[in-house]
Amino acid sequence: MNFRIEINADGADVRGVSGEISGTLVEREKQLRDLFRVAEAAALEHSLRLDQPEVPRPQCCGRPMNKKRLRSRQLLAPTGVVTWDRRVYQCPQCDRQLIPLDDVLGVPRGQLSPRLANLGMDFVQVESYEQAVEKLKRQHGVSVATRSLVNLAGQIGPATQAFLRDHQSQHWPSGPIDRLYVGCDGVMTCTNEVGKDGRLKWREVKVGCCFWYDASGHTHKRIFGRIEAAADFGATLRRWADQCGLASAKEVVFIGDGAEWIWNIANRHFNDKRTTWVLDWYHLVEHLWETGRALHPDDRVEQVRQVAEWKRILRYDGGIRLWRRLQELQVSTEQGTTGREAIESLLGYLKPRLDQTDYPTYRQRDMAIGSGAVESTAKQLVVQRAKGPGMHWTAEGLEVVLALRSISLNRDWDAFWKTNPQRAAA
Ligand SMILES: [Zn+2]
Repeated sequence: MNFRIEINADGADVRGVSGEISGTLVEREKQLRDLFRVAEAAALEHSLRLDQPEVPRPQCCGRPMNKKRLRSRQLLAPTGVVTWDRRVYQCPQCDRQLIPLDDVLGVPRGQLSPRLANLGMDFVQVESYEQAVEKLKRQHGVSVATRSLVNLAGQIGPATQAFLRDHQSQHWPSGPIDRLYVGCDGVMTCTNEVGKDGRLKWREVKVGCCFWYDASGHTHKRIFGRIEAAADFGATLRRWADQCGLASAKEVVFIGDGAEWIWNIANRHFNDKRTTWVLDWYHLVEHLWETGRALHPDDRVEQVRQVAEWKRILRYDGGIRLWRRLQELQVSTEQGTTGREAIESLLGYLKPRLDQTDYPTYRQRDMAIGSGAVESTAKQLVVQRAKGPGMHWTAEGLEVVLALRSISLNRDWDAFWKTNPQRAAA
């Protein structure tokens, strides 16, 4: 069957697009897609050519600029290339040229239309640049060079950071919350830099999150990741917590693993009477497993039994009780063995954090400490995207992807693209 789409703008015919729709359902869906794609491209181009808003003559050096020739502009949209003309103005005094229509329309720098940029970056925040290119081709029939997406990411990088810093998200708590959780963690990622030993260097991404439960028990979480010094990261985390209602929260729970920089941040920024510090359950249990494996290297059943026993002590009696149990075990384990060393290392990990391991009390107060919320943040934000086989990054490249990913995970994607980041970077 032959179909025809007539495009008519303000009563005038613009274009007709026809095509045969037949065959299997798969074929018909594809044919219709293609037909509408051509129609959409024609309509977009027509509107850009013929519906240009009136632009007042711009001024420069205290006088109106001269109207010069038309200059053609081309952008790649998801439906293909669109081309239109716009008026160039020139200052008779200083020769500066201006195209005011581009400002009025919000035409981006570069070659990608806003919608294509949005789609491309949406793929990039989930998968590699190569896969994003592949997906644009497959799902939208548009061919984009990998380089174009890489350049675009570089171009909007500052806008992503500005957005994360300044945007008043509608997903922040609307009123005071009872308990605000703040957490941070570090994840090592591989860089492009080669160290003295000829190997690629690793660098830590610091991940922060704030989460809370609403009246109906739903979790809300805001996350971000940065490659920066601990002191700067601490200030960033504090600002996020402020935005999430730190000042009005009745109670604050700060969760982190054993890393020293994390507790320096807690000390500096999250250290008042209503704040409880909690050693991240998930990380601690990881340490228990390491120790269990070192003690019983060839006995999986014994490993499981041992870790289960320690977890039970932690859960019902707390860290101090576990500490005593481990000390007994230390004495009864032969010196110099890997098992003994593992116990000593675990004791060393626990010692400065014992007052953050009162899990029975936390449980009683119904605190979320066993969910691995912080750990899953790091996985979601960094590990899933940045630690694929053979992946390595420049700091700038990784920060843009992490920023885009946070914006998406924080459900601010549409709000971000409304800021027209391709222009904000100009
Ligand atoms: Zn001038």
